[in-house]
Amino acid sequence: MQYEPVIGLEVHAQLKTKSKIFCGCSTLFGQGPNSETCPVCIGMPGVLPVLNKTAMDFIIKTGLAMNCTVAPYSRFARKNYFYPDLPKGYQISQYELPVCQGGYVEVVVDGSVKRIGLTRIHLEEDAGKNLHEGIEGASHVDLNRTGVPLMEIVSEPDIRSASEAAEYMRKLRAILRYIDVCDGNMEEGSLRCDANVSVRPAGQKEFGTRAELKNMNSFKNVQKAIEYEIKRQIAIIEDGGRVVQETRLWDANQGITLSMRGKEEAHDYRYFPEPDLVPVEVSKEWLDDMRATMPELPDAKRERFAREYGIPDYDAMVLTESRALADYYEKAAKLSGAPKQASNWIMGDVLRELKNAGAEAEECPLEPERLAGMIKLIESGTISGKIAKTVFEEIYRSKKTADEVVAEKGLVQITDAGEIGKVIDEVMAANPQNVEQYRAGKTALLGFFVGQVMKKTGGKANPGLVNDLLRKKLA
Ligand code: ADP
Ligand code: MG
Ligand code: ZN
Repeated sequence: MQYEPVIGLEVHAQLKTKSKIFCGCSTLFGQGPNSETCPVCIGMPGVLPVLNKTAMDFIIKTGLAMNCTVAPYSRFARKNYFYPDLPKGYQISQYELPVCQGGYVEVVVDGSVKRIGLTRIHLEEDAGKNLHEGIEGASHVDLNRTGVPLMEIVSEPDIRSASEAAEYMRKLRAILRYIDVCDGNMEEGSLRCDANVSVRPAGQKEFGTRAELKNMNSFKNVQKAIEYEIKRQIAIIEDGGRVVQETRLWDANQGITLSMRGKEEAHDYRYFPEPDLVPVEVSKEWLDDMRATMPELPDAKRERFAREYGIPDYDAMVLTESRALADYYEKAAKLSGAPKQASNWIMGDVLRELKNAGAEAEECPLEPERLAGMIKLIESGTISGKIAKTVFEEIYRSKKTADEVVAEKGLVQITDAGEIGKVIDEVMAANPQNVEQYRAGKTALLGFFVGQVMKKTGGKANPGLVNDLLRKKLA
């Protein structure tokens, strides 16, 4: 029997506002416990929340970037539950009238574009954090995070595999970072994901019973947790059992999901409209203002890069993963006048260096200007591709330009046929047997001679010229 997985994601994105969603406290991370709090966010009686306009700006931009309908009228609601990290006893969220509805995000699946539908995007406040470690006989609560603005992005159950889910997450992250509303850091929790997973026999129309997976803090873990869960559910059905609806926790150490609570223990949130906040009306002007601030988005940029710079789709996709990387590439491509070379160097050497350092494109010590300078030297034939590797190492780790490194180390390519010819003569004189064998038909020895000449010239001889001259002289 073949099974088809059905997956829908609920993603929480922390908004990059300076202050919290309903009070003026700072959203700064890593401050002393409870230092960034006030009577509003610690839930004192008698206080009133006031909506942070920037949080609204950010969710509107997100809605526009993800093709949603931005509601002209939306409202907040109280989601009631009891937990020590929730001082009011309810979370201010949105229920039947969220800011954004509908919409979609496109991902590339097996080489073709697939649309993942969005159900809604709404605003809500984050809860605090319970601290247990290193505390004897008690737990402490840090409310610095309480009231930090979150956006919840709910997808339709359109996703059909674990890798598709990871691709969708990557795309969401890219868009959120392009429009600069969320830093997208999954390890630090600014981007969190709950995955609803079910399986059904291939061809069946109705969805199977789903489990909701929590606690995945990287793209890799999202993918692994879903892969595990799909296998687990198929095994249950194959054994003649039934999947139960429940919430399960991903245990990254063991690589398995564990039951956290069943349907019976599910919360009844008793949602009702938040009486302390006025409904939000988004005027056409507000929407237009937000639209005017929208940057070029990843899909549009990818398509333009492929068209304008004539680079392969794959290159364009990698180079537009972040806005900083795309800007970096575009500068290097323009300044060097060699877009494909620029793409090769960035996708290969630059990204490798960044990855090794765990750094982002904006932190790259080698500016696109200096990289372009080196590419120009290759393009003009001043240095060979091989020498360029040495030059790259040097300019990446210093503030020198490629011109300076080449002049300092005497790395200019030898393109003088006379000079190369002399070296070839020396090499041939030193290896008479090889010359004889070559002339007797063992032409595979050409590589040996090329190697010798390159060695003698410190890799500076123009490889094309070396090949041509060798062939002539050995003939
Ligand atoms: P809840 O509020 O209980 O989390 P929702 O109906 O809002 O439930 O759905 C949450 C998520 O679960 C959505 O992303 C949706 O696409 C997904 N989903 C719903 N039904 C299924 C199913 N049978 N299998 C997989 N995902 C599902
Ligand atoms: Mg849910
Ligand atoms: Zn506060």
